[in-house]
Amino acid sequence: MIRRKLTILGATGTIGINTLDVVAMYPDRFRVVALTGQNQVERLATQCRQFKPRYAVVTDPARARELRQLLADTETEVLCGERALEEVASLPEVDTVMAAIVGAAGLRPALAAARAGKRILLANKETLVMAGRFFMQTVRRGGATLLPIDSEHNAVFQCLPEPFSGDLATHGVRRILLTASGGPFRTRPLETLAAVTPEEAVAHPNWVMGRKISVDSATMMNKGLEVIEAHWLFNARADQIEVVIHPESIVHSMVEYLDGSVLAQLSNPDMRTPIAHALAYPDRIEAGVPWLDLPRMRQLSFETPDTRRFPCLALAYRALEIGGGAPTVLNAANEVAVQAFLERRIPYPAIAQTLERCLVRLGDRTAEELDALVALDQESRALAEALIAQYA
Ligand code: NAD
Ligand code: MG
Repeated sequence: MIRRKLTILGATGTIGINTLDVVAMYPDRFRVVALTGQNQVERLATQCRQFKPRYAVVTDPARARELRQLLADTETEVLCGERALEEVASLPEVDTVMAAIVGAAGLRPALAAARAGKRILLANKETLVMAGRFFMQTVRRGGATLLPIDSEHNAVFQCLPEPFSGDLATHGVRRILLTASGGPFRTRPLETLAAVTPEEAVAHPNWVMGRKISVDSATMMNKGLEVIEAHWLFNARADQIEVVIHPESIVHSMVEYLDGSVLAQLSNPDMRTPIAHALAYPDRIEAGVPWLDLPRMRQLSFETPDTRRFPCLALAYRALEIGGGAPTVLNAANEVAVQAFLERRIPYPAIAQTLERCLVRLGDRTAEELDALVALDQESRALAEALIAQYA
């Protein structure tokens, strides 16, 4: 058994907390070297007392001072700033980095881990949507290993032959079938969607998640981002990725082979399963997740998503087909629009409208290197903000 030495980026978030839950079960297998957070200083301090990392990072100086006080009697050194996130993602004494910051803010630290050749447990899908080509190149050049945490991609990874290289056709794969719960608005009458509130949007029927990804699940932009994520992770074309609604969230995704076989990964909807899979890979360990009780489930159902109900899903396919900088534009506009919706500055349907307008205006841009990607991300955010201001 290899003892893994971990940095957990975004330790105070939903994925971070679930990761530490699994880590706590195996003190001999995992040692936490660094934890990072943003605002929840007290939670981060509690985590530091329990896991005794060498470093704790927050990005804001005032928060860093608070954290230093809270940890004054401990061995943990508090670092501050965005550069510090990159530093702890590339420490020589760390071999595994959990990338669980939400949004484009996670890109630079994930890139640092890639350059340093770490084993990257990737939850932060926005990294792949914003900078897929660049990130995958950096992973290859840095000799890093990528293990997907997103439950769908983790499922696909488990259903593909290993080692996976080349493309889907090399392995006799016809399609990837990504499952989606359909979120809280799957059956809600279409004409009532204009009035949904942030509280209704974040109330996911099957998963407990951060606010941003919860809204993304309601609009199904989350699945759209995951289609783009699957494109980069598995070298799959848009027409080789199909989304299937599966309200029970038991089948986490499937791989269809040319001979007609479909392999699926099933488990209870609990992120500790994909997290434990990636943490211990290629070993298997218990995750603290209840065993699946299929007779109790009684039925698993599947349906085709309706793109009138979920226009964001169609926009993501469109961005993937346009290629170039279109996914970067889409991702940035989405982060801004979701935040505006959560702050009640725009109604729910304005999320998709804003994304579409940004895609129309900026979708033909190209961006390859990091600076250009960041600039395009900023430009799309500014355009989205300007469009949102018109709703006031
Ligand atoms: P969350 O909001 O619960 O946690 C986000 C974490 O990132 C927190 O630790 C926060 O402090 C940190 N953070 C936020 N903004 C930051 C910034 N600007 N700089 C530095 N740190 C910052 O989110 P989550 O649900 O844990 O999701 C994290 C990532 O994992 C997202 O990319 C999400 O799409 C992905 N993901 C989550 C789930 C899930 O079940 N929660 C499933 C699949 C994928
Ligand atoms: Mg997912």
